[in-house]
Amino acid sequence: MTWQEQLKAFVRTTEQLETFINLTAEERLALENQQTKWGTTPYFASLMERDNPNCPIRRQVVPSLQEQHNQFGRENYLLWKENRETDEVRPDSIARQYRDRVAFTVTQGCGIYCRHCFRKELVIDGDLQLDFNVDEGLAWLAEHAEVRDVLVTGGDPFLLADEQLDYLIRKLRELPHVEMIRFGSRTPIVLPQRIDAGLKKVLGGYHRTPLWLNTQCNHPNELTDASARAVLELLSCGVNVGNQAVLLKGINDDVTTFRALHQKLLQQRIRPYYLFYCEAAPGIDHFRTPVERGAELIRDALRGHTTGLAQPLYVVATNIGKIPLMPDYYQLGSDEAGHRLRNHRGQTTCLPRIPA
Ligand SMILES: *Cc1c(COP(=O)(O)O)cnc(C)c1O
Ligand code: SF4
Repeated sequence: MTWQEQLKAFVRTTEQLETFINLTAEERLALENQQTKWGTTPYFASLMERDNPNCPIRRQVVPSLQEQHNQFGRENYLLWKENRETDEVRPDSIARQYRDRVAFTVTQGCGIYCRHCFRKELVIDGDLQLDFNVDEGLAWLAEHAEVRDVLVTGGDPFLLADEQLDYLIRKLRELPHVEMIRFGSRTPIVLPQRIDAGLKKVLGGYHRTPLWLNTQCNHPNELTDASARAVLELLSCGVNVGNQAVLLKGINDDVTTFRALHQKLLQQRIRPYYLFYCEAAPGIDHFRTPVERGAELIRDALRGHTTGLAQPLYVVATNIGKIPLMPDYYQLGSDEAGHRLRNHRGQTTCLPRIPA
């Protein structure tokens, strides 16, 4: 199937879903009684295990009754996070938390509507009507010479047609102050068919302004021969590929899965970039772990146990930017002798203290 055929066959009804999995009574209830946008490409649906309700892919796709519970989420989360009520006048499409870079939202559509998505409440299910007008965003960017890095996001920007993407990239490259263009797209994982000859033409070739892409892969089962090929095609166009995983309870919060995920990402030429702690959005409490869990996983599954290339930076995205939550287990303290450090095996060593 081409990517357009994948989207035409988008799985959005219970009947379609049942061709891939046997639903539990609870899943059926959640599907029938909740007003929520859900869906997936048939490709990604085909990776679900038919009879395992805890399948890590299925849990990202199929709505759950637990989405009704909300203890730790914040209402109107996205408005709070994106600082939309600040002094600076910006188009809806531009989210800004930093001086030198912005997030530029160009579409609302996705190749899968992730159950853990922090945008779900307002943009996907809600009535927050945002106007993601590309030209308006481009005009704003043209007037902001301090912005040197544009993160094109959504939704999923790779759901735009080739011509639209070509226009967007061309216009961004015309801005002399834009030094790099980044895409956030789950298509290499949920719709690898998208990385086709037409897109390669749009992305490829030598340009002064490089393209970077971060995808989202949360479990090793999402990495297939198709995703590996899609990543290679992107790299062959000069597009660097990284990953932004979300720490999800019961999906990737155990040492074995977590290490396998990061090792397999590298095996498919994807460089782990961020591990996100679940944001304070409502309806995703069932995916939340204690905040320490991510740091423990980096300590127990990655650092020292496998290459440093496999290690993402553990952060939480907040209304004031991304904040690192990395473990500092290696610092045992310092005394006259110097800083005492510990490694992943529990061995200790010493670093001299240098006066400032
Ligand atoms: C995440 C984000 C960025 C990019 O942050 P990096 O740490 O550079 O990847 C930029 N702007 C906004 C609003 C963001 O949320
Ligand atoms: S692909 Fe990204 S924006 Fe779209 S539903 Fe998933 S997490 Fe949300």
